[in-house]
Amino acid sequence: MKTGVYPGSFDPITMGHLDIIIRAAGLADNLIIGVLKNTNKKSVFSLEDRVNFIERVIREETSLTNVTVEAFDGLLVDFVRNKGASLIIRGLRAVTDFEYELQIAQMNHKLDSGVDTVFFTTSVEYSYLSSSAVREIASFGGDIRPFVPKCIVQSVYDKYKSIRSV
Ligand code: ADP
Repeated sequence: MKTGVYPGSFDPITMGHLDIIIRAAGLADNLIIGVLKNTNKKSVFSLEDRVNFIERVIREETSLTNVTVEAFDGLLVDFVRNKGASLIIRGLRAVTDFEYELQIAQMNHKLDSGVDTVFFTTSVEYSYLSSSAVREIASFGGDIRPFVPKCIVQSVYDKYKSIRSV
């Protein structure tokens, strides 16, 4: 049984993330989406929202049965080991992602030689897409429908509505 962990901030989940989730779920027997409790990177969406959004998307917009969502903090390799997983899944959008990702992957392998990182190259239609771009568009009331799974679009707008009304 190969268990994979797909870690990230998912602030919020985008179509690019969903594409990687679907493809990685076909590779691993079980896939755990590890949602990072950001300590140094402040997220716009709460940990609870980020986890709930992903769970809703998996339930309502896919037929995947081998994917679970969990929050984690601390060292990624510790979380991976505690879950009995041996694969870390990451997405590569462009060369700019590569240098950073390579360093982290090598570091994680050094920390635990039983853990390997598998990279999925992004599907071309999502290569420009990031959570930060979605946040930027949503903050100005722009159309985020092409970029985030349908079932969370309203929740993302609602969040920015509540931020604006503070
Ligand atoms: P992090 O803060 O760890 O970068 P993100 O939520 O931004 O977390 O991204 C999590 C993972 O998903 C990373 O491996 C990132 O490269 C990948 N990813 C993000 N957006 C896309 C996309 N549009 N296509 C493919 N992979 C993506």
